[in-house]
Amino acid sequence: LPHVRMRGVGKVYQTGTTDLVALTNIQLDVQDGEFLSLLGPSGCGKSTVLRCVAGLESTTTGDVSVGGQPVDGPPSGLGVVFQRDVLLDWRTVLQNVMLPAEFEPAERQVALRSKALYLLQMVGLGAYCDRYPWELSGGMRQRASICRALLTDPQLLLMDEPFGALDEFTRDQLNLDLLRIWAETRKTVLFITHSIAEAILLSTRVAVMAPNPGRIAEIVEIDLPRPRT
Ligand code: ADP
Ligand code: ADP
Repeated sequence: LPHVRMRGVGKVYQTGTTDLVALTNIQLDVQDGEFLSLLGPSGCGKSTVLRCVAGLESTTTGDVSVGGQPVDGPPSGLGVVFQRDVLLDWRTVLQNVMLPAEFEPAERQVALRSKALYLLQMVGLGAYCDRYPWELSGGMRQRASICRALLTDPQLLLMDEPFGALDEFTRDQLNLDLLRIWAETRKTVLFITHSIAEAILLSTRVAVMAPNPGRIAEIVEIDLPRPRT
């Protein structure tokens, strides 16, 4: 059973008097442990696909399921990273990573705190736990956002152009961090990018999308050596 399954998914946005067909007949399976990128120009519907999987947007037609369950609102077991990080500037880096643990029982919070420290160390932010987000570079902020998304160990990671706002050098570094994280954890990743190079480097498969109306034009297998764990 695929981890993510989309069948005949269409999405129409009603904007005032006109309808905008954002997606038409999307068929997509993402297998457990796979790194799949959605690649395509701005406006082809990549974010809409991701938001339908995240339960943040309803579909107009078709079915979406995650882990065999139909998506009806944000499912659990999901980590999400957006282009713009959502770190709170008045909380330390560690407190930011711990946000998803806020309503957990005290005992579980202790375990999650060690997890947070481990994750921050893994992305080279060990020395920045008690600093504030405004003291960090853009790349470091996205690293912290990734730690936050991974805190509760979701099996599915959704990433909407997470490195799109970073300079090329920082982006390359984050790409390597993400490759390593994926090799270690074998999360199922659905990743959005408009960079062909990034898609090829990171993915096991790339779904190439085309606009007007948004659709999947082809799916390409990528067979590059992966980092060893
Ligand atoms: P991409 O992520 O590939 O840039 P999007 O999924 O953001 O594409 O958008 C696909 C199309 O749907 C675009 O034409 C966009 O303007 C439109 N769109 C996206 N979100 C909305 C919305 N909330 N309301 C109306 N139109 C939208
Ligand atoms: P991206 O291209 O990175 O997916 P956009 O800048 O197109 O992001 O869209 C950012 C936000 O604006 C999204 O939440 C999307 O739903 C919304 N949006 C995009 N296009 C429209 C639109 N035509 N009308 C209303 N909202 C839109």
